[in-house]
Amino acid sequence: MQLYNTLTRAVEKVVPLKPGVLTFYTCGPTVYDQTHIGHMRTFVGNDVLRRTLEYLRHNVKHVMNITDVGHLTSDEDAGEDKVEKGAIKSGKTVWELTSFYTDIFFNTMKQLNVLEPAVVCKATDHVQDMIDLIKILEEKGITYVTEEAVYFDVTKFSDYGRLSRQDLLEKQKGVRPEVVVDPNKKNPADFALWFKRQGRFANHTMHWDSPWGDGFPGWHIECSAMSMKYLGPTIDIHTGGVDHIPVHHENEIAQSEAATGKQFVRLWLHHNHLHVDGEKMSKSKENFYTLEDVVAHGIDPKSLRLLFLQTHYRQPMNFTWNAAKGAHETYKRLKEYILAFRKQNSRTMMTEDKLSMIDHYQLKFRLALENDLQTPQALAIMWDLVKSNVTSEDKLDQLYEFDRVLGLGLREMTADVIPDEIKALAKQRQQKRAQKEYEAADVIRQDIEHKGYIVEDVGSSFKLKKK
Ligand code: AMP
Ligand code: ZN
Repeated sequence: MQLYNTLTRAVEKVVPLKPGVLTFYTCGPTVYDQTHIGHMRTFVGNDVLRRTLEYLRHNVKHVMNITDVGHLTSDEDAGEDKVEKGAIKSGKTVWELTSFYTDIFFNTMKQLNVLEPAVVCKATDHVQDMIDLIKILEEKGITYVTEEAVYFDVTKFSDYGRLSRQDLLEKQKGVRPEVVVDPNKKNPADFALWFKRQGRFANHTMHWDSPWGDGFPGWHIECSAMSMKYLGPTIDIHTGGVDHIPVHHENEIAQSEAATGKQFVRLWLHHNHLHVDGEKMSKSKENFYTLEDVVAHGIDPKSLRLLFLQTHYRQPMNFTWNAAKGAHETYKRLKEYILAFRKQNSRTMMTEDKLSMIDHYQLKFRLALENDLQTPQALAIMWDLVKSNVTSEDKLDQLYEFDRVLGLGLREMTADVIPDEIKALAKQRQQKRAQKEYEAADVIRQDIEHKGYIVEDVGSSFKLKKK
């Protein structure tokens, strides 16, 4: 398989460092607020990557962290801790808040058919690993301590800026003056490994003892410590959103490579962002949508997954409710096809050329994914097979096979159960029509629609469907 590596700006073949296992780390959510459709896009993207690697017979070890401490409102050490701020706003304790939003995150992922990583690790359970890593950096003379924090000195790591291709001087110039909050920080791009429970953080609720005093870890050290703990010093694939490139991932590389002297990550993959109606999502613009909003619009979560797959992960994506409704209609059509194929439940004999047609779709599907995860193409090939004149269960089996990657839940698709109340209404309507009372029949039709169903006339009978 080939993937675009942000580090080299080239599409490269994926070859695990150690044959037999492919190590894969994903920067997980910061659990201080709702999971929104932007997060959903990124985590569905990670899931499709993991499923593809497994489809291509890699033995994947997937690790994802949960950031429940240390992520400040600015990635560059300014502002408050997002979790502490969220707890004050909600009236919950920090622990209640993080547990509440972690549950929402995983519940959302489940509805989107996102598989759970083999290891899910919480930052607050790994503080000792972070302290141990900071100690190694300190022994190597790469850190310094101020009244407020322990910093990583970026001038001591010659490769700093390689991922985002910014040279250090340029990067230092780029750091906004208000971001430099500690007057004793040596270089604006230096970043905190450990915040002391002092000054602006004097009342921080989450805190641990450390060689540098009571305090809490910085966000970046969390990912270095946890990823290397579970996957070793060199990781095959590390993913995140494009916003992670200039600060978070740059800092992860600096800390990890300075500590181990080894290459930290062989291939960096970044998901592009999702915008809503052409704008960045934000609560103030009221365009910050959750899965609840999606369901309230009558859109099945799996159709949202389908919508994400229609755009390549490196392209920005614009979300509109119209596009989401379109994906919902497409998903419904797919379901109708699948249910219809299942009804032809006799295993008809396949002729040689029909079998080779299936092989042909299978090959095209694999090639699309092997080519930097071209999910829009893979979907198109799935549709080609759906619409092809291949019949019999072999077609269905092949579609299920494609769904190991797509995760649209084809196997689990079942016919909608129509409530008795709706069936009764449809019968009443049919009687009105038979009596030529068309207006009354239409009122009943509207009532049925209002209740979420569609009635279609089939000769003198009718068919009911979910909207
Ligand atoms: P956070 O919880 O803010 O740390 O974000 C978790 C993941 O979601 C990161 O990989 C982000 O890059 C990603 N993410 C945040 N906002 C968006 C967005 N609008 N579109 C796509 N991914 C996003
Ligand atoms: Zn991370």
